[in-house]
Order: sequence, then C-alpha cells, then structure tokens
Amino acid sequence: MRGFELPRLVRLAAPPGAIAAGPRDGRLQVVDALHKAPYRRLATGEYLWRPPYPRGEPRRRPVRPNAQGHFDHLRPGTPAFSAAATFAAAACVLDIWEHYLGRRLRLRLNPRQRRFELIPRVPRLGDNAYSGVGYVEFGFADADPRQPYCENLDVVAHEVGHHILRAVIGRTPAGEAAFEHQAHVEAAADLVSLVAVLHFDRVVAHLLEQTRGKLHSRNVASRIGEFRSEWSGRLEARTAFHDKRLADVARARRKGDFHTYGRPFLGAAYEVLVEIYESHLVRRELISSRLARRSSRATARSRRALRREFGGRYRLNPDGFADALRHATADFARLLALAWQRTRPGPATFARVAGNLVAADRRLAGGRYGRVIRRAFAQRGIAARSRRP
Ligand SMILES: [Zn+2]
Repeated sequence: MRGFELPRLVRLAAPPGAIAAGPRDGRLQVVDALHKAPYRRLATGEYLWRPPYPRGEPRRRPVRPNAQGHFDHLRPGTPAFSAAATFAAAACVLDIWEHYLGRRLRLRLNPRQRRFELIPRVPRLGDNAYSGVGYVEFGFADADPRQPYCENLDVVAHEVGHHILRAVIGRTPAGEAAFEHQAHVEAAADLVSLVAVLHFDRVVAHLLEQTRGKLHSRNVASRIGEFRSEWSGRLEARTAFHDKRLADVARARRKGDFHTYGRPFLGAAYEVLVEIYESHLVRRELISSRLARRSSRATARSRRALRREFGGRYRLNPDGFADALRHATADFARLLALAWQRTRPGPATFARVAGNLVAADRRLAGGRYGRVIRRAFAQRGIAARSRRP
C-alpha cells in the first residue's frame, strides 16, 4: 500500500539495554520459529496447539542489539530485520495506546507462558496474519517471501489491537450479542492501527499531500483495514467502509461475516476523526468555518471547487495542517480510549460504544463533538445510546 513502502525508524520509550536479544523485553518476545505450523486452524480458528513455543523446536538465533542497545543496524530484507521490525511495531503500538489509556496493559497468556510471542515469519500461514491467546503470527502478502506482513505496521497494529481491546473491554460475551461484539472488535482493531500509523510523521505528510488536506476522501488512512479479512482467508479482501450503512451489510450478518459487518462503525468513527481535524483547522484559522461546514462526506467526490479551495489553503501552510491532524489524532484516541474503558464489561454493541463516545467527549471536551459523533453514527444507521451522567 502506498505510504507504507519505506522502512521507518521506530523509537521506543525504553532505556538503552532494556530490550534484550530476541528482541525481547519484560512482556514481549520475538520467536523466529522455523517450519512452524500455525497455532490455529485457518478456516475455523480452532486451536491446534498453543504457546509457549517449545524450547527444542527449530528457530533462528535471537537478534542482538548493537553496543548502544539499539536494533537500527539491521539490513532490510533479512530475517533479522523482520524480527526487529515486528518487535518495534508491536511495542510501539502498545506504547501509544497505553499512553492514551493511562495504564499499562496485561496481555493474556497461556499457562506456563512467560512472554507474549511475536512470530514474524510463518510461510504456512500463506496470505494471512493471525492471533490468539498469547501470540500474533504473520504470513506474507500474496504468499510472496519478499512481502512479509510482519513488516507492515498496519497489519501488526491490527493484530496487536485485538489484544489491547481484549485487555480493555474484556472477553467476547456468549449468546446473541457475540456477533456484534466481534464486529466491533474488528473495526476497533483497525482504529487502533489508524491512530498508531498517524503517529508517524511521514504517513501524515504523505496523507496530506495525497489529499491536499481534505480527508473526506478516499485515501491511505481511509483505506486502513481494506487489506484484511482473516477469517475469510485472504488479507486483501477489500471491504471499503466509505458509504456503508448498517442496512447495506445485513447480508454479512446473516453470513456471520463480522469483518464486513463492522465497516459502518469504522466509517462513522473515521468521520468523527475528520470532523475533529477540521475543527482544529478552523480554530487555527487554517480554513474558514464556512469551508469546514461545506466539506463533508456527501460532497467529497462531487465538488471540485471545494477540493480546489481546500488545496489552496493547504498549500499556504502544510505544517499547520499536519499539526492539526496530530492534535486531532490525539483527541480522537483519548475519546476512543475512554469510551472503550466505559464499555467494560461487554457486550460492545455499536450503539453502546457510540453512546460511550458521546459520554467520553462530555468528560474530556465538555461535549464539543457530541453533535458530530451522534450525526456520524446516525448516518450509518447507528443510534448512539445515551446514558446521561
Ligand atoms: Zn482482526
């Protein structure tokens, strides 16, 4: 996917020496297993075996840090680079979200397992990435050995997102609510990823260049998650969320396809992010409030003049737009973090999480975005369930 092709340097909030050979730290560990069979059956998700990966099983040697305790000396295209990249991406996503959640998360493990396993290269997974209790493991795009999914921040962030959400919201409930809960988790894992990738300056710059600052459009961020659909097999199943309402995905519900069923929720949440971003632009006087009002999803494709006007404003101050997007991302992440914490214990139905976003906004921003949130979800057929404080 464009915008993700170049290796990025990842800085972690760990003192030099805190990350040991592996890489591994107190809670995460890369296990560069060789000839490994997937832990779960691809078609059904049934566990065939579980972590911890046994000591005697074949694996590559742990990757060592350099004398300064860093891993940035590794050459792209080598298994050692894959191992370090997987660790960096997973640890970085955890760092980012623990910052917004305001606490350190405990990742669920199996009995006798000391650390959460990151398994970078599992050719037998084919064109897939997969996770389960105590691990994430990665195949290859198009099953091509030169395209390891473990080096794609979006894919790693989505899989780690599952574990973050499990730690925050709790387990999938039994019974009728299970389906919608799982559909929400799929959408939410994409939001975990979206927020994480927007912490990379180059992604922000590329996104704004591509859209001339107007994010109500098809772009690299709005396409997060399109390349993923684990249970239905191939990752690149493209289920765009752009115009999806709940009524449009009723068939997915009947088929039990919770990836597709989560798209309207994801679309509404993305729109909330864009509205927050535009309100930052207005407050910084980078665009007029009139232009922000005229810009919406409905007018995204049609109005060429609108796009030109946005582009003109963007050209005047690209750095200002980038700064607005960074602040909007932080506001959006704080809203999500608090809403998800309020959703524990599940079920995380769409209406309930949307209602918790409204409540979180009342707490964090005095209700500034309440109308925006209600409207974005209502347009997708999701009525935010309100619970007055
Ligand atoms: Zn998923």
